Amino acid sequence: MIISMRPHATREEIEHVCERIREFGYKVHSIEGEERVVIGVVGIGDVTACLESLEATPGVERAVRISAPYKFVSKEFKKEHTVIQVNGLAVGGDEFIVMAGPCSVESERQIMDTAESVRASGARILRGGAFKPRTSPYDFQGLELEGLKLLRKAKQATGLAIVTEVMCDRDVELVAEYTDIVQIGARNMQNFALLKSLGKCGRPVLLKRGMSSTVKELLMSAEYLVAHGNSEVMLCERGIRTFETATRNTCDIAAVPLLNEMTHLPVILDPSHATGKRSLVPALARAGVAIGADGLIIEVHPCPEKAVSDGAQSLTLDQFRSMMKDLKPFIQLWKESRVAAAVAV
Ligand code: PEP
Ligand code: MN
Repeated sequence: MIISMRPHATREEIEHVCERIREFGYKVHSIEGEERVVIGVVGIGDVTACLESLEATPGVERAVRISAPYKFVSKEFKKEHTVIQVNGLAVGGDEFIVMAGPCSVESERQIMDTAESVRASGARILRGGAFKPRTSPYDFQGLELEGLKLLRKAKQATGLAIVTEVMCDRDVELVAEYTDIVQIGARNMQNFALLKSLGKCGRPVLLKRGMSSTVKELLMSAEYLVAHGNSEVMLCERGIRTFETATRNTCDIAAVPLLNEMTHLPVILDPSHATGKRSLVPALARAGVAIGADGLIIEVHPCPEKAVSDGAQSLTLDQFRSMMKDLKPFIQLWKESRVAAAVAV
């Protein structure tokens, strides 16, 4: 159950509600939003009596029974789509947001050239890994702090916001200082210690679906972030492992509209990791627009054949430009349907 307090509920009213919940034998988990406090009631058993009592308690706006195990991220809790402000952009709003850049930050030249070019092509956020999760310990592990500094430089030169991955709780503060959005990679989707430490990092999180994770598990991981204080979460479908090996992963295209039914959080599609094959990226990007994703994250490299990671799935700068041009009519339709949906609500 979730208790939504009135916008100007007093401290005493909030405390009193928490007391009542404890008296009923449940645990309290409260989230302080800009406008109001929302209190999660955690526990097992029938909450009817508690719900009825709280509905009549001063300061309470509404009490909602939530049947899904993920509460705060569920559509039951919040019907309106979440919009996340990033560096003047509204992810989840009426602009289709494209994030683009190399898999790994490799050099100043590489990241600056990519940033300038993807910005000119219409990307709004620059991606690039400074801490890289690699299958082999002998592969390039990322430029780490130097990579973060290069991303900052690219932001200063282009105005693009930055999204970059953090792999362990030790580095959260450092990465959050340099980036606008913190990425949690597929391999860390269920690193619960890391998720907890992102609760108070002060940055929105791009949470990528684990390669063997269900949609429900993705939502439970998002719930960790929200329950620990960070409600600015974007979800990312990046393909899952199946018996099919012709593509690097199998893009679970249905997961995008499904997530839109289950959660109010923005959903981003990653056609690069979902396919592993540059020739398939533009088609899947179009699909992403058509099925109502809020944006895309695409790997782009000035010279993919020389990329230290994920070259095979990276578009060249020209290919990215032409993909963005081809996406325009689809994005126009996307905008019209967003506006129509907003009017219908
Ligand atoms: C990446 O974005 O480069 C990456 C490592 O993605 P994923 O975690 O989805 O594999
Ligand atoms: Mn990659």
